[in-house]
Amino acid sequence: MGGGKARSSPASGQGGATADRGAAARGPASELAAEPGASAWQYAPAPESRDVVSIEPEYGLFVAGTFRPAADGRTFATINPATEEPLAQVAAAGQADVDAAVTAARTAYEQVWKPMPGSERAKYLYRIARQLQERAREFAVLESLDNGKPIKESRDVDIPLAAAHFFYYAGWADKLEHAGFGPDPRPIGVAGQVIPWNFPLLMAAWKLAPALAAGNTCVLKPAETTPLTALLLAEVCQQAGLPPGVVNVLTGAGDTGAALVSHPGVNKVAFTGSTEVGKEIARVVAGTGKKLTLELGGKAANIVFDDAPVEQAIEGIVNGIFFNQGHVCCAGSRLLVQESVADIVVERLQRRLATLRLGDPLDKNTDIGAINSRQQLDKINELTQAGEAEGAQRWSPPCQLPAKGYWFPPTVFTGVSQSHRIAREEIFGPVLSVLTFRTPDEAVAKANNTPYGLSAGIWTDKGSRILWLAQKLRAGVVWANTYNRFDPASPFGGYQESGYGREGGRHGLAAYLNV
Ligand code: NDP
Repeated sequence: MGGGKARSSPASGQGGATADRGAAARGPASELAAEPGASAWQYAPAPESRDVVSIEPEYGLFVAGTFRPAADGRTFATINPATEEPLAQVAAAGQADVDAAVTAARTAYEQVWKPMPGSERAKYLYRIARQLQERAREFAVLESLDNGKPIKESRDVDIPLAAAHFFYYAGWADKLEHAGFGPDPRPIGVAGQVIPWNFPLLMAAWKLAPALAAGNTCVLKPAETTPLTALLLAEVCQQAGLPPGVVNVLTGAGDTGAALVSHPGVNKVAFTGSTEVGKEIARVVAGTGKKLTLELGGKAANIVFDDAPVEQAIEGIVNGIFFNQGHVCCAGSRLLVQESVADIVVERLQRRLATLRLGDPLDKNTDIGAINSRQQLDKINELTQAGEAEGAQRWSPPCQLPAKGYWFPPTVFTGVSQSHRIAREEIFGPVLSVLTFRTPDEAVAKANNTPYGLSAGIWTDKGSRILWLAQKLRAGVVWANTYNRFDPASPFGGYQESGYGREGGRHGLAAYLNV
């Protein structure tokens, strides 16, 4: 396992990859190589308590301010991907439920939410934000149980950012006429919002907060594999006294989402998910007059020049692709490294990866949690097998995967060429493809050689090079000497096959206003 000695340790009973997390930070690679196995200390399990959240055996749909079963009584199970244990049965919304939710949203829009002054709407958003903060631990545990992501990520990223989104857009609710969209911007009406499973609560916040601030009402469809935090958020809406029908949550599978986006009572569709489904939705919505924003896939280049601070870049590469098991649309899944430093970067990267801990998502030491579903694991397996078959070299640190649940070790492919599937397709897993370049122009050409255009990263000491490159990269977001930084005030979105429209910031309001 790089410079450390590979061993397994039971992380809260799950087992996992263990090594000395401090090793990579302590010195150059040559020093570390001289002390194999000398460095490690053991991590005691540090499990977050599961008892902070009470999970009901069954959950209903949230329509017109109350929870109710699906009209036809259908339910589905949501499971913990780290253990495959069922967590709860959840109502599966059908056409009748979509009709009821859209009707409730329409009534609330016409009678309550649209006429309400922005300063009053803001109070509800602030209340929701504060409730999210107060119940943060509960949300974090529930998110990690339902999604499989490490608790330190749900605790430190997903939940605080979700609350920050509500705080941020609460601030806009009474200032819309100063947002640069004319003196009297109007809401659109009922928003149908479909979100994925990679950041379940955060994506709900990205969708709901700007829509509500702008005066729209919402029908939200969370992903089938991660419905629980959206339902807890619905409870928070009740707690905040949000008028019935302003937010409705319909759990279900893809057919529920399809029924929602095609519903004639919906004025605005917002979707985050795969490019394939995004295209399907664009076809359905075309010609209906509905407004549409799509936040789709990505295959971002994380570009490392020979003058980059290597240790910082390594942290950025790891954060770029192994954060959230690589289930990130803007993940830096293609590492473009300047040829002269490629060997040292790959060597140090491997050392760093050997220190990551994979295992129980509720253990506070865990870096890599579970893959969200069997289906996603199958997709990652298929694409990584294709990578090997096409001739790339595969590497993972020795790593004991837990016996139950869906797991995939951090994986690096070297010798990748631009035509390989692993360099072109979104893997959406903890898999990095390494390519090299010699000149800045070649870096630009390779980075832009993708049908996507969501994000990119640049690592270099030269500010002028950052500016030059950022102008040439066809990506909606470009990070310089950092990666995966999110702020509610900052617009996010892509173009080409990564979709269109922006979420976050002042720009994010435009999607929910008649401008
Ligand atoms: P999908 O695009 O299928 O799912 C996203 C959301 O859309 C889910 O709520 C899903 O419901 C819903 N949905 C599915 N079909 C339709 C439809 N016809 N009309 C309306 N809504 C629909 O993503 P997957 O979960 O299947 O993931 C597949 C791949 O997509 C991943 O491997 C990854 O590459 C990419 N992806 C990208 C994301 C991003 O942020 N850009 C996020 C998630 C996935 P349900 O969950 O019930 O299927």
